[in-house]
Amino acid sequence: MKNSSIKHKLDTKLIHAGEPRPGVLGAVSLPVFQSATYEYSGESTDYHDLRYIRLNNTPNHVALHQKLAALENAEDALVFASGMAAISTALLTVLRAGDHVILQNCLYGGTHDFATKDLPDYGIGHGFIDAERPETWEKALKPNTRALYVETISNPMMKVADLKALAAFAKKHGLVSMIDNTFASPVNFRPIEWGFDISLHSATKYLNGHTDIVAGAAIGSKAIIAKIKHKLDHLGGSLDPHACFLLHRGLKTLGVRVRRQNESAGKLAKFLARHRAVKSVNYPGLGQKNAAKFLDGFGGMLSFELKGGLAAARKFMRRVTLPVVAPSLGGVESLVTRPATTSHAGMTANERQALGITDSLVRVSVGLEDAGDLIADFDQALKR
Ligand SMILES: *Cc1c(COP(=O)(O)O)cnc(C)c1O
Repeated sequence: MKNSSIKHKLDTKLIHAGEPRPGVLGAVSLPVFQSATYEYSGESTDYHDLRYIRLNNTPNHVALHQKLAALENAEDALVFASGMAAISTALLTVLRAGDHVILQNCLYGGTHDFATKDLPDYGIGHGFIDAERPETWEKALKPNTRALYVETISNPMMKVADLKALAAFAKKHGLVSMIDNTFASPVNFRPIEWGFDISLHSATKYLNGHTDIVAGAAIGSKAIIAKIKHKLDHLGGSLDPHACFLLHRGLKTLGVRVRRQNESAGKLAKFLARHRAVKSVNYPGLGQKNAAKFLDGFGGMLSFELKGGLAAARKFMRRVTLPVVAPSLGGVESLVTRPATTSHAGMTANERQALGITDSLVRVSVGLEDAGDLIADFDQALKR
């Protein structure tokens, strides 16, 4: 791997890891290789080694793979056409007919639906665990359990479980451990360092950071990524070179973006926690022990509940002026949503209630606006 020595810090790797040096025709920035196919040199004709966009091996893919692997101190990485392409392809690589997977009970909606509605069509079963209660995990095991699937920071309650214990539990029982690290980003958490086998990302969010593409990533050992690549070559959810180029460009500022978002979200969370119109605030940095133990920063995502219930939440959403009312997260602009009507609309009211997701819960993705301006805007929107 070029220029990605483990001794360099994350911000140096963001700029230099995976970059071809010398640059192509002296270009300082890696150009887009918008070519579907490539001449092959010599007779090495394993199908998966031909150079072709769907085979995930154009120069734009290779540079991204090396950079992403370096960021999480892993051997290898792979990009995909979306976060869901990464998640579904990885699950279908690890699991086969007759297998069973243990899932955290509050997963991203698309993942939850894929595992509970699509995997059964392939003869793959599932069970759920409450990641907050390690004493209950063993009960979810079956003789055919092959994998454990969790998220670094739960959505929308922003809880961090004992991540080290989860990886150790998987290892002890011979399960492949998979973790969706989207909310933390490699700046705040690097799963492979804590014993997870596969780190997954919706690169649509923090990794790209500019709300202008969808993309996904899987990060892990050479052996496991090679298997996932084989599956991706067949399923075809490959990232287009132009989207690779945009992701590559967005990625270079990940460190400065996420650290600023950590800082601003922390300030906003503290402001909201003290506000008399606010009932409760969910943020990993507000006294969560596991978050302090595992995360280098507490992220840019928070959620809160208003004392005035649904009517107050609706009024807040109408009055707030800087954040855009839209789903998704991790971009330069702040976004607000009500999870009950967006990310978690697919659950029944009872399922939402069991996870603490009320109709009046507001979720915030903190962007790169001035933190003082954001706080002032929230303050005016919270006034009765
Ligand atoms: C958005 C998201 C996904 C899905 O990613 P897409 O890029 O939209 O396919 C998966 N997991 C988490 C945690 C997400 O926020």
